[in-house]
Amino acid sequence: MTDSQALVKTLDFQLNIQSDNESLLYDATLEARSAYNETIRLAKQGVDWDTIPDRVADDADLVKNTTQRVVAKALGAMENYYEYDDFDQPSHTKDGAYPLRANYEEGYNLSLTDDGDVTFRISAKPYNHVKGVLEGDDAHLDILKTALTSDEWKIGTAEALFHNDNAELHVNVTNTEQTVRDKQDSRTVVGVDVNEDNVALTALSEDGVEDTLVIDFAEIKFERHRYFTMRKRVQNAEKPSMHDTLEGREERFVRDRLHKVSRHIVEWSRQFENPCIVFEDLKEMRESIDYGTRMNRRLHHLPFRALQYYTSYKAAFEGVPTAWIEPEYTSQQCPLCGHTERANRRKKRFKCRSCQHQDHADRGASVNIAVKGIKKHQDWNVPALNSLPQVRKVSNERRSLS
Ligand SMILES: [Zn+2]
Repeated sequence: MTDSQALVKTLDFQLNIQSDNESLLYDATLEARSAYNETIRLAKQGVDWDTIPDRVADDADLVKNTTQRVVAKALGAMENYYEYDDFDQPSHTKDGAYPLRANYEEGYNLSLTDDGDVTFRISAKPYNHVKGVLEGDDAHLDILKTALTSDEWKIGTAEALFHNDNAELHVNVTNTEQTVRDKQDSRTVVGVDVNEDNVALTALSEDGVEDTLVIDFAEIKFERHRYFTMRKRVQNAEKPSMHDTLEGREERFVRDRLHKVSRHIVEWSRQFENPCIVFEDLKEMRESIDYGTRMNRRLHHLPFRALQYYTSYKAAFEGVPTAWIEPEYTSQQCPLCGHTERANRRKKRFKCRSCQHQDHADRGASVNIAVKGIKKHQDWNVPALNSLPQVRKVSNERRSLS
């Protein structure tokens, strides 16, 4: 069962393309699409698959190794198609742009400038390069810079593509030193309940609850409300540039805080034996929440996903696996007796209507998440829970005990 995995990450960047090179990249993605479609066409005609790469490469106005990657992808899709016995179904081809796949140092290149920027050079067409600077999340840029300056990370293939009309580059990197332990080999499961103003953690082992912690970040909620009001004001005053500035400031603030919180979660989890960090799959939860206003939706939207994401990759750097569970009833179920009722919960207070157990509601949810994590991913038993340790609260801002 010790099947640890190499740490592979896809880093997403926006391409800030020099001068008017953008149409060149777009043309290349269209060309990649026709290479893809041509591959499918030839395969369907019964042409020997071994000869397809050369045939397509001869006609495509693309760098050869890029064409090979596109052809491989198309044949891979064909293979799956065949397995599913849909071979005679109509068109498997598509319209529009297709990601331009490239090998590092063949189809694309990256370098670190003295100013700390990462520049790119993509061979969009033979002898025709698209150049510029990568932009994106600090965390992704950090990893990429590490990859460019040390042997710890290996840079692999990348895809250049258009997303909502913006040019992006998705770069695959592999950590050569760090492996992530298989999540099924864990001795402690840390349930993480992410809320608008805090995150509740419970570490559960075969022996019971090891510890529990609530990290409060009410200041994120507060600042987001404040920025929302300010943006609204400048919007009404028709100052779009100010609006964008505020949005940028808010994003940086929230991102910075969420990085801090996620570091805290990982640090805390690492004190336990072979931990696995478990989250709720919030895609489904979001759909089940009844949002009152647009602001509510915005407020709910951002931190959850970002925090989970930051936490999971920071954990991966430490070799700690993460896992996901279904979010149903995690906040309404009594962690001690299992009784489930909506009325059990009233804001941050939880009181079980069956066994009268009382608790901090978010902590209770984190226990339930850990329990689900054990059931789903571990081969050991959920311990019997008769009582829970006292809730410890810390503020992410000051890190003081309260
Ligand atoms: Zn109960």
